[in-house]
Amino acid sequence: MRIAVLSRNNSLYSTRRLKEAGEARGHEVHVIDPLKCYMNINMQSSSVHIKGKELPEFDAIIPRIGASITFYGTAVLRQFEMMGVYPVNESVAISRSRDKLRSLQLLSRKGIGLPITGFANQASNIPDLIEMVGGAPLVIKLLEGTQGIGVVLAETRKAAESVIEAFMGLKADIMVQEYIKEAGGADIRCFVIGDKVIAAMKRQAKPGEFRSNLHRGGSASIIRLTPEERSTAVRAARTMGLNVAGVDILRSNHGPVVMEVNSSPGLEGIESATGKNVADKIIEFIEKNAKAHSTRTRGK
Ligand code: ADP
Ligand code: GLU
Repeated sequence: MRIAVLSRNNSLYSTRRLKEAGEARGHEVHVIDPLKCYMNINMQSSSVHIKGKELPEFDAIIPRIGASITFYGTAVLRQFEMMGVYPVNESVAISRSRDKLRSLQLLSRKGIGLPITGFANQASNIPDLIEMVGGAPLVIKLLEGTQGIGVVLAETRKAAESVIEAFMGLKADIMVQEYIKEAGGADIRCFVIGDKVIAAMKRQAKPGEFRSNLHRGGSASIIRLTPEERSTAVRAARTMGLNVAGVDILRSNHGPVVMEVNSSPGLEGIESATGKNVADKIIEFIEKNAKAHSTRTRGK
C-alpha cells in the first residue's frame, strides 16, 4: 500500500516509527507536512499539491496533527477524505476531540465515568459553580492548556475563587473539576487501536506534584488494567469516533474516570514504557481496515 503520514516533521519519534513500521511491513510511506499542502477544492478533481506537484494517490493516511495546527491540518485531512483516501482517524473525530467541553459532554451522554466537571463564563456564577462540583479541593483547567500547563489544584474554596476569577479576568476559558485525590498523582494512558487497548502505562507525578505529565517530570511504567478500565477506554475512543486514541484515565473511588481522549497519542512514552511495537500495530490495523471511499463523514 501507499501510506501517507500527515506530520509537520519527519524527525519526530512517532513519525519516524510509523514510517519505519510501514516500510518494515512492505509499504511505501510518505511523510507529508500539512502546512506545505495547498489544495484545489473542486467536485470533479479534488487534489492536494506541494511545491508545484500534485501528490500521488494514497491508500491510507495517518494524521498526526498537533493541537496548534488543528484548523489547517484537519482541512488538509478532509481534502484527502474527499478524494477517497482511508484516514486512520477522521477529520471530524479529530476536531471533536480537540474541544474538551464537547468531548466531556459526548462521553457523559454515553454514561462513561468522568470526574465531576463544571464550566461557566461569568464571575457571578463562581460560588454556585464551586458548590455544584462539590467544593474544594478543586482542579481548575485552562481549556487550551496541554502538557499539564494551566492545570491548577486549589486546596481551599478561597483559593479556587481567586484562581477562577483570575482566569476569567484574562478571558481564558476554563473548566472546574472534582480533585481525584485517591489517584495519588498517577494517571493511566490507555493506547486504543480499534476495539482494543493494545498498551497501557501508568504515569506517576514526581513527589510534591499532582500532575503526572511526563513533561512535568512524571515517570512511566507498565501497568495491568482491570476489565472495567479496558472497556472504559475502548468505549471512550469509540464515542469520539477515533480508531487510534490515547485515553487518559484516573483511578477514582467511583471507578475509572476519563480525563481526556487524545487523537494523536505520542508513541515514544508508551513504546519505551511497555516495550510494545505500537507503530506496527497501527500499520496492521490499516492493512485490515483501509478501504477507499469509506469515510463515513467525508468531512461533514
Ligand atoms: P493536559 O491535557 O494539559 O495534560 P490534564 O487534564 O491531562 O491536562 O491534567 C494534567 C494532569 O493533572 C493529569 O495527567 C493528572 O495527573 C492530573 N489531573 C488532572 N485532572 C485531575 C483531577 N480532576 N484530579 C486529580 N488529578 C488530576
Ligand atoms: N500527544 C502527546 C501524547 O499523547 C502529548 C499530549 C499530552 O501531553 O498529554 O502523549
